[in-house]
Amino acid sequence: MIDIDLLVRENVRGLRQYSCARDDFKGETGVFMDANENPYGRLNRYPDPYQVKLKNAIASFREVKEENIFLGNGSDEIIDLCFRIFCRPGEDKVLTFTPTYGMYEVSASVNDIEIIKVPLNSNFQIDMDRVIPMLSDKNLKVIFICSPNNPSGNAMNSGDVEFLVSEFRGMVIIDEAYIDFSDKPSFVKLIEKHPNLIIMQTFSKALGLAAARIGIALTNTAVIKYLNKIKPPYNVSTINQLAALRKLTNTESYRNQVDSIKRERERLSEILKSVKIIKEVYPSDANFLLVKVPDANFIYDTLIERNIIVRNRNSVIDNCLRITIGKPSENNKLIKALQTITK
Ligand code: PMP
Repeated sequence: MIDIDLLVRENVRGLRQYSCARDDFKGETGVFMDANENPYGRLNRYPDPYQVKLKNAIASFREVKEENIFLGNGSDEIIDLCFRIFCRPGEDKVLTFTPTYGMYEVSASVNDIEIIKVPLNSNFQIDMDRVIPMLSDKNLKVIFICSPNNPSGNAMNSGDVEFLVSEFRGMVIIDEAYIDFSDKPSFVKLIEKHPNLIIMQTFSKALGLAAARIGIALTNTAVIKYLNKIKPPYNVSTINQLAALRKLTNTESYRNQVDSIKRERERLSEILKSVKIIKEVYPSDANFLLVKVPDANFIYDTLIERNIIVRNRNSVIDNCLRITIGKPSENNKLIKALQTITK
């Protein structure tokens, strides 16, 4: 069994957590004279540092235990916290499968951690033969697996993911930002068996609250303890906690939107396959499509001229554009524009 304490940086293991006023007194009513807040107004009080009500709602929504939930100021904060907990600057390494979400690399650089990039194979799957010999590297501390992957859109083979989680002696972070759009199941059940696993999800995609900046880490209580230990005490604002709570009190619109986006993904994918300038539409388990074109820079610029903004991924995958699924009317505008570009 992996001992999480031994994977944690020594200074973090020994660190004394900042104790805020709401750690000392947890009640909700009384004359509050403990946090140097302004006694007037509606947003005058600090937020609940452990987001108890929101975690309670997430626990029912995701069918996980509250004690296994950590919330960050977006998944991006969680990524950074993980670097700070598990990786020693200037010494340790992390592994990513590229092309993938850019923040793993940015956060690695900020924390002075070496990033190993193993290219995904031609089906955008993990090249296991290349990865397996790396698993015994003592300075390799974290493996990031993005599934469904951004920008390719596909989910990773579950057998490969499960192999890495069970064989690697460091932490594995599976970024499931797009999981709601996939017909394949989440890997969240694995957290019960594997203490070295962190599943990341977010309110930014299917739940439609990118502005609220709420990322979710689902993991065992030993890891949660360290995340809580080093996070800024009030990292999720009251306004954002309330927005997320409201979203979870009625999940019908979430379900309808996910269904519509998935339907539109299939419709757009089929139509784009018949558009002349589209050379390939890659299969997607996410809310976007990766497409190959003859000249991505030209098509990107031409779409901008028509006020349609897609993501030019030419710098990471040759001549590829990433198209987020929009509303049906927006998708129709894109189709019309692409049908009339001739180069
Ligand atoms: N993970 C992936 C794979 C993403 O593509 C993104 C955003 N594009 C994020 C995480 C960021 O999530 P958040 O908004 O929760 O920081």
